[in-house]
Amino acid sequence: MIRLLVFVFSVIVVYKLLRGLLKGFGTLDKQEVAGEQIDADLVQDPQCGAYILPAQGVTARVDGKTLHFCSESCKDKFLLGQSEKSSEKTG
Ligand SMILES: [Zn+2]
Repeated sequence: MIRLLVFVFSVIVVYKLLRGLLKGFGTLDKQEVAGEQIDADLVQDPQCGAYILPAQGVTARVDGKTLHFCSESCKDKFLLGQSEKSSEKTG
């Protein structure tokens, strides 16, 4: 009688393990698709992190790179931060 119980118990454990494995495979497929997809045409404002179209907003040349900002105030803040950084190096 105890043998039968052990057999039934082990069958349930194996069944649960298999179901867990199958579930794991199922979620793996979904994770591949997950993740943020941002429109390639958008650029990020390095000051406030907003995404804007390059044609909109304000541009500034920093270290030879063209950066895009959502507004003049963001550009001013960013450039202020840049000059503070460079003055730290020299001073
Ligand atoms: Zn901004």
